[in-house]
Amino acid sequence: MTAVNSARQIDINGIVQGVGFRPFIFQLAAAHGLRGQVVNTASGVTIHVEGTSAQIDAFIDDISAKKPPLATIVELQDAETKWRGHEDFRIAKSTAGDTRATLISPDVCVCADCRRELFDPADRRYGFPFINCTNCGPRYTIINDIPYDRPKTSMHPFTMCAACQAEYDDPNNRRFHAQPNACSSCGPKMMLRDPSGQTIVCEDPIAQAAELLQDGHILAVKGLGGFHLAVDATNDAAVERLRRRKHREEKPLAVMSADLAIISRYAEVTPEESALLDSIQRPIVLLAKKLPEKLAFSVAPHNRYYGVMLPYTPLHYLLLSQGFTAVVMTSGNLSEEPIAIDNDEALRRLKDIADYFLFHDRDIILRSDDSIVRRAAGETRPIRRSRGYVPIPLFLKEALPSVLACGAELKNTVCLTKGRQAFISQHIGDLENMATEEFFHLTIDHLQRILNIQPKAIACDLHPDYLSTQWARHQARLPVIAVQHHHAHVAACMAEHHLDGPVIGLALDGTGLGSDGTIWGGEVLVADTTRFLRAGCLDPVPMPGSAAAIREPWRMALSYLHHTMGDQLWHSGLPLLERLDRSKAEIIVQMCADGFNAPMTSSLGRLFDGVAAIVGLRTKVAYEGQAAMELEMMAQGADSERYPFRWTSAATRRIDVKAIIAGVVDDLVRGVPAYVISIKFHHTLAEGFAALCGEIAKTHQIDRVALSGGCFQNRLLLESMTEALSEKGLSVFIPRMAPVNDGGISLGQAVIAAARMRRDA
Ligand code: ZN
Ligand code: ZN
Ligand code: FE
Repeated sequence: MTAVNSARQIDINGIVQGVGFRPFIFQLAAAHGLRGQVVNTASGVTIHVEGTSAQIDAFIDDISAKKPPLATIVELQDAETKWRGHEDFRIAKSTAGDTRATLISPDVCVCADCRRELFDPADRRYGFPFINCTNCGPRYTIINDIPYDRPKTSMHPFTMCAACQAEYDDPNNRRFHAQPNACSSCGPKMMLRDPSGQTIVCEDPIAQAAELLQDGHILAVKGLGGFHLAVDATNDAAVERLRRRKHREEKPLAVMSADLAIISRYAEVTPEESALLDSIQRPIVLLAKKLPEKLAFSVAPHNRYYGVMLPYTPLHYLLLSQGFTAVVMTSGNLSEEPIAIDNDEALRRLKDIADYFLFHDRDIILRSDDSIVRRAAGETRPIRRSRGYVPIPLFLKEALPSVLACGAELKNTVCLTKGRQAFISQHIGDLENMATEEFFHLTIDHLQRILNIQPKAIACDLHPDYLSTQWARHQARLPVIAVQHHHAHVAACMAEHHLDGPVIGLALDGTGLGSDGTIWGGEVLVADTTRFLRAGCLDPVPMPGSAAAIREPWRMALSYLHHTMGDQLWHSGLPLLERLDRSKAEIIVQMCADGFNAPMTSSLGRLFDGVAAIVGLRTKVAYEGQAAMELEMMAQGADSERYPFRWTSAATRRIDVKAIIAGVVDDLVRGVPAYVISIKFHHTLAEGFAALCGEIAKTHQIDRVALSGGCFQNRLLLESMTEALSEKGLSVFIPRMAPVNDGGISLGQAVIAAARMRRDA
């Protein structure tokens, strides 16, 4: 049989740059006896091959089957093309075309091969804190523009030495075209400085830094997506000092340990959790503490969990190899500001926090915080989706018009859509100060540039005062589509699960402006991607002092008590009342009665706060959701009693919170312990909402429930609610790619805005 010569052009779209894809193609072509070339283009990779048709078909099959670990193929198209008569197979120079559809790899942890070399005294990169190869290392945080080539990254100022260049040019080398390739003679350098910027002269800055940590000092450490503040996690005084200086009083601090064996000394680790810890994304994983606590109490006070991660850069590995149980690694910022990324900026902003600075001279182009995940209801749930995951897109059910969605106010992210892809940005933070607002602008510009997306519309929240909404309103050229907060929550969950038909959306969170001008947050919606109907909600109560009521749950306690028993509350015999300043308390109750500076809210987050304060947990919080979290943490036992959960038969069913509060007060007065009240309260909500959803399901002929909103970070609530809904025969959908909290709002906004544009087109 005579083989017929054939030439084919293969265009591949996906994460195919900077992940060892071209050398893989080079070797695969050789294995199949093909000639031709492969080239990075702005839209991905284009391959020209010449051989027999059968050889080429087998080659194409192998591309998908054997691709490198970090590569993701979204589209592969091949077509017959002109025979050019190539004599060999080669990797051609990149071209910058007019389209930029290529996907960029996220930053991933240093691979096993590089780690072996890092600790091998015979290797030329022994102890080199920037070791990487095509299978690992920084990507998203060092890229300025595409195509992804060294001059477009922050490795640009470092010229490769002859040895590194030879590796870079050798298609058989693991570092072939590894853009951040370097060694200790040509690559970035570490340096140790004091807060005045003076260099501490020492032979090995990392070993010296480890010693300083062991002595209880606080270090600012430049990492991959920004600075960390590091301190020995077993030294209570040192951790306390970090908290004081950072103005972070109680929020748990993340820790890093060298390996899984060390982590299992102080935390319970299931096989799923150890796989997560060890994944290339290296997120912070919430792990149950082993008791008695082995780390300093102040690492995660009043919490059953530690946030734990494994090292992800070679620098972390070198630092952690110096004999620590765990090192606190918390974002290098003042509370509520974005993480610092620049050396001078870090000195300026962190000089009153850190005792020493461990710097290096490779720039971070775009900051990216550590991601946080946990296992709940049988799957991995992101709490913060950032480093390691961004900018991998979520794939939507169908192609939609391009939209830029600006997110909400807290835990802000933005989202850009293109075709079937939705790109959610890294965690931007709480849009409450100028520094975060600047980071918000920067991220929008950067993402639009590297993804080459020109949105046709901008989506934002209904709330006119959010900085994200105000920014959207100032973009004169594009139509702005405002989306109700809880509708966005529900749509985000729908988008992930490829649902577009009507669902029951259970949106339970702290705060979001409702379409009636009041504050919502305990909502049962019937929704599709364009519209929603408010089928049920918690009975609204006043929030005396507005935002102050979020910081001071005792105000919400009084509001619920007044709502439940009017002036009788003073005779309820609750211990809480004795702890409060009577004249202040009377003013608050008066505000509730008059409605003065007391907007109405149906928020479940506030109900959690109120109950936490009524049972005596805390009257003030140091961070949003703290009281609710502590109420969850104290729940114990499997009590079978429930509080009454009733609703009205109005078009929007109103859930009677009086009955629940009256039950809680009654229990307290009878001396029922708070941990029992907590478990009863959780089960009441789970079964009560499930019963309500069951009724709405019948009325509207819907059997799918989408759960969303920050309250579902409460694992007990999520798991008991899922169980109760399933028992009603309803299918339950829970976010697993985007966070269930406001970090997922941008995705929901984007999907709703795009669906409305298509409907109205
Ligand atoms: Zn590697
Ligand atoms: Zn070198
Ligand atoms: Fe929310």
